[in-house]
Amino acid sequence: MKHVKCGDVPSVRAPAQYFVGPVWQNPIATPDDPARANSALVTFEPGARTNWHHHPLGQTLYVTQGAGWFQTKGEPRVDIRAGDSIFIPPGEVHWHGATATTTMSHVAIHERQDGSHITWLEPVSDDEYLGG
Ligand code: MN
Repeated sequence: MKHVKCGDVPSVRAPAQYFVGPVWQNPIATPDDPARANSALVTFEPGARTNWHHHPLGQTLYVTQGAGWFQTKGEPRVDIRAGDSIFIPPGEVHWHGATATTTMSHVAIHERQDGSHITWLEPVSDDEYLGG
């Protein structure tokens, strides 16, 4: 058993090449092989969002705080808020983030395939982000 106490692992600023705006990551589950399921708490400041991306084995998001936006490529942007669960199928191109005026935190759960759980694409432009 490994007990990781709050404060043992610092929050990490999400890498700027994959996110627009300030995003903070706190690991929840980072198991060694052969386990594959990873989880993190991700907090987006107002206006912040992921780049477009997809997951080889899909992803589940559980919104724990605030209000945010989610969009699948080619579909309308949808509102998400605390208490919502979102399942993204494998390969579906999408982004998630805060609204323009509120923070949003979600737990993200995803599995690695061949060592990777995500394929990053281009940033979400302001027009795409605000386009609704
Ligand atoms: Mn995702």
